[in-house]
Amino acid sequence: MGASSKLALAAVVPLQTLQGSEGNLAILRRQLLAIAHELHIKGWVANHDGNVTARIAGDRLLATPTALSKRVLVETDLIVLDGANQVLHGGRRPFSEIALHRAVYAARPDVRAVVHTHSPNATALAVVGVAVDPTLIAEAVVSLGAEIALLPYGFPQSAEQLAALRVAAHSLDAVTLANHGVLAWGDDLEQAYLRAELVEHLATIQLRALQIGAVRTLPANDIERLLAARTKAGLGPLARAK
Ligand SMILES: [Zn+2]
Repeated sequence: MGASSKLALAAVVPLQTLQGSEGNLAILRRQLLAIAHELHIKGWVANHDGNVTARIAGDRLLATPTALSKRVLVETDLIVLDGANQVLHGGRRPFSEIALHRAVYAARPDVRAVVHTHSPNATALAVVGVAVDPTLIAEAVVSLGAEIALLPYGFPQSAEQLAALRVAAHSLDAVTLANHGVLAWGDDLEQAYLRAELVEHLATIQLRALQIGAVRTLPANDIERLLAARTKAGLGPLARAK
């Protein structure tokens, strides 16, 4: 794409008309860029892998673009998409995995951000068909609940995979996708990022534990108490139902 066509696309919708507060969008852009860079620094993505979105308002999303390493991404590379994934602002194109993000946003009106990585330890477990287990560590049960579902392998963005993701998103805050990677979401970019980080951290502990002995999960009674603490902290499906 030449410089002139990029300028023409950027001029389609003035940025300040995309939501009520131009200032809020500016903050969102800085946060999203910082998290996208972090995905590369942490080694959770390679090549053009991984993507981040944040809900601006309604079905409008701020998103990382396709075909660009998170290492070199700058603020002007970020794009604003409408509900049909048409680019409202920015000269780059949306990534093909946007359907995964949309499935989560559709299932969870409260979700404001989604982070997708191919972080190696969680993905290694997903390749051999093992789910990352939050019931190994007490704090993880409070943060993520008692389950991080491993969704069965499906051709990327297949209807079956998107349907399974929508079902999982109703009750969970992160999943792994078989032979693919991690998807985590939250109230804001920071929470979605921290959940993706926690999934990878748990996967690292789980992998190391598997190498040296039998993995022991927390006692069932304690898991129940931790889930009650999770609800009390305003997290999870029971807290949302209140
Ligand atoms: Zn991916």
